[in-house]
Amino acid sequence: MNIHLISLFHSQDAKKYGLDKMLSPFVEDVKVLEQKGMKVSFMEQPLYGTISQITGDNLGLNSILGFVESFSANYYCRMCLIDKASAQTVFSENYPRVTLRTKLTNEEHYSYLMENPRENSCFGIKRNSILNTLAYFSVSDNFVFDIMHDILEGVAQYEVKLLFEYLNRNFISIENILQRVYAFNYGFMDKKNRPTRINMFCIGNSIGLNASQTLCLIRNLPLIFGDVVPEGDRHWHLLIILLHIINIVFSPCITEGMTVFLQHLIEDHHRLFKDLYPQNNLIPKHHFMIHYAGCIRKIGPLLHVWSMRYKAKHKFFKSSIKKKKKKKKKSLAKKHQIAVAYHWESLSAKGIESGPVKTKILTDVENGDLISEHFQIDLLSEINVTTYVNHNGAE
Ligand SMILES: [Zn+2]
Repeated sequence: MNIHLISLFHSQDAKKYGLDKMLSPFVEDVKVLEQKGMKVSFMEQPLYGTISQITGDNLGLNSILGFVESFSANYYCRMCLIDKASAQTVFSENYPRVTLRTKLTNEEHYSYLMENPRENSCFGIKRNSILNTLAYFSVSDNFVFDIMHDILEGVAQYEVKLLFEYLNRNFISIENILQRVYAFNYGFMDKKNRPTRINMFCIGNSIGLNASQTLCLIRNLPLIFGDVVPEGDRHWHLLIILLHIINIVFSPCITEGMTVFLQHLIEDHHRLFKDLYPQNNLIPKHHFMIHYAGCIRKIGPLLHVWSMRYKAKHKFFKSSIKKKKKKKKKSLAKKHQIAVAYHWESLSAKGIESGPVKTKILTDVENGDLISEHFQIDLLSEINVTTYVNHNGAE
């Protein structure tokens, strides 16, 4: 049985009171669940439980699990002991230079920090996490990576930017590139996510798109620019490999064989990237990708633990704060409870929703003759026309 515990930590509070102090009541509750269990109406025996995985974005996970909170640090990876420089030439978890973190290595680093209190960190570990006091959970058993930030807001935007610069140098001007992107017909399902404003001059590696827009753009790139690029182009091939990787990583269901294929794709992709752009660094998010196959084998598809759902949840709080302009946490919590209650109570009533409805004569409607024939109704009948109908989330 999965129980999802959603905790909203305010980063200011975490700094003020210390993360472990904030986590401590929660950890105490989980200890009770581990040792004594919980009485439930549908079972005679008490129900036991523990934490299986902690999910979050990279920075959130690093701080909650006791790792350094900077990705420019020398040892930034939660999964292995690779240093920043070596990460540029390591394209697979199977390389002998990669030492994966284990419970044992973590214990060694914790005791080093205890013996040398002046040291800020040891191989990327800053402190022992309070979560390690649980009986059935250890920081070394957390295999979550956030594909939304790693790929959609990281690697994909970085590589699309480099690809556009390459196309601009060789085949088509940047103005034409953007024109093609904006004018492309992304279809009904994707039109909400079409890229509206690409900024090639963004600081860093991004092109100023959000996660959904990036996924929409990169999936359609072969259709938008396929006619421009000659056959056998290696820069184009890099994009195609990345798309293969995205197709696997973003699947809700992945076979063991696919994880092996994924590992090879990621290795080929990173090697080709360094071949094509020797002067550009692989970013930490590129490095995290080499652990994907192993992590999927341990905890299943990473799509089920990405940050997209939390971002959607945060939207409510963000818009409430904007409206009120005062960050009153108590009133936010209450407002959220009322909203959830309203949502649950009105679920059945909200089964079908539609846009504004207009009454028209069937002959005045586009393809009216087909509709009349299919539903066996007179061409002069009055019908209701609307822009969209949403049935339980399907539009
Ligand atoms: Zn690593």
